[in-house]
Amino acid sequence: MTPGRPVPPPLGKPLLPIDETDVVPSPTLAAAYGTPTLAAAYGATSADSGLVPLTVARRAPKEDDVEIEIDFCGLCHSDVHATRGEWGAQSYPLVPGHEIVGRVRKVGSAVDDFAPGDLVGVGCLVDSCRECGSCLEGLEQYCERGNVGTYGVKDGRNGDAVTQGGYSTSVVVDRRFVLRVPEGLDPAAVAPLLCAGITTYSPLRYFDVEEGDVVGVVGLGGLGHMAVKIAKAMGAHVVVFTTSDAKIEAATELGADQVILSKDPEAMEGANRTIDVIIDTVAAPHDLNPYFRTLRLDGALFQLGLPSTDMPPVSPGALIRRRLAYAGSLIGGIAETQEMLDFCAEHGVVSDIEMVTARQLNAAYDRMVAGDVKYRFVLDTKTLQTPSEKADV
Ligand code: NAP
Ligand code: ZN
Ligand code: ZN
Repeated sequence: MTPGRPVPPPLGKPLLPIDETDVVPSPTLAAAYGTPTLAAAYGATSADSGLVPLTVARRAPKEDDVEIEIDFCGLCHSDVHATRGEWGAQSYPLVPGHEIVGRVRKVGSAVDDFAPGDLVGVGCLVDSCRECGSCLEGLEQYCERGNVGTYGVKDGRNGDAVTQGGYSTSVVVDRRFVLRVPEGLDPAAVAPLLCAGITTYSPLRYFDVEEGDVVGVVGLGGLGHMAVKIAKAMGAHVVVFTTSDAKIEAATELGADQVILSKDPEAMEGANRTIDVIIDTVAAPHDLNPYFRTLRLDGALFQLGLPSTDMPPVSPGALIRRRLAYAGSLIGGIAETQEMLDFCAEHGVVSDIEMVTARQLNAAYDRMVAGDVKYRFVLDTKTLQTPSEKADV
């Protein structure tokens, strides 16, 4: 661990900027590149529709595009927040899903780094401006002009069509935003690495966690369980804070060195001044002050959960007394996501998953909200229906 402000690690080669001629206005797309492919999908048509079968039109691959036949897509709590309109106005119909694993079906004429049959992944990003300071540093998630998320975002290079995610049988993505999935891992269990994995890897790496550091993980869901596995693989001593009595034993099985029931004030007090960095993954507002008390001098708490309403106030004294940092962190850039996939392959880290069919998606969302999942649902896209003849999206 580096005391004080952590130094960001090198993130590999940044993406090359492209020139404006790459921006193709919508009406010319079909004429220039051919007829879109129809893909079966599941998505929301309004904030309270639940998920229903839909058909999505996927653009014919442009020069730099990769067409992917999706095999698996993880279910992230962000998908619940977004489809249910918990983060504000949303564009519907909306097909969620940003933990995508599949095989390359077709590539555009300028793609020479991927070939049909390759095992690949797509995470939370499908584009960015590629030329601002953040993008040039490989931090596309913090693109100064706004990143293009895998679903629900207008895609400026593709006629401002709203992006549609991975609860679908195929997707078309620019090669710069396609990840190489190492062979030899269970591809269904790799899918959650594309969001839950990178979102927890990135702040752990940013804080420069190393052998012997003490990492706290708050909330043992999709993100939380990946934080435990990745922090252990980095050599850390891991302390899990959970609200669920039922997860105490399970957390130990996952590799946690210590488990604290956060609703037990005595247990919380016992952890005071013992932790270097906390990864907070809770999907609902909660009081952070008891967690700040568990941090040592120069410790940091990374807020990853994004509840729809504000958190209770943070006591300034809690931060000041031990020079603590209260930080946020958003997913990870493309180079860092590839680094994380390679790290997980090297350490044999994948997600603990429960497969679901398309028809089980709504029930899976309810179970996720109730905290009843160990630890990530993954959609088997073979269970999606065949697309209808006309696209809904
Ligand atoms: P998840 O699987 O549902 O896990 C959240 C965990 O939080 C639960 O399992 C539960 O763990 C704990 N929790 C405690 N009180 C809760 C409450 N009242 N309601 C819900 N959960 C509660 O969710 P996830 O997919 O890991 O995502 C977690 C949060 O991170 C979401 O808000 C999501 O939108 C956000 N997210 C952020 C980023 C980013 O880039 N920053 C990326 C992806 C997701 P215990 O039972 O152990 O207490
Ligand atoms: Zn996610
Ligand atoms: Zn940018």
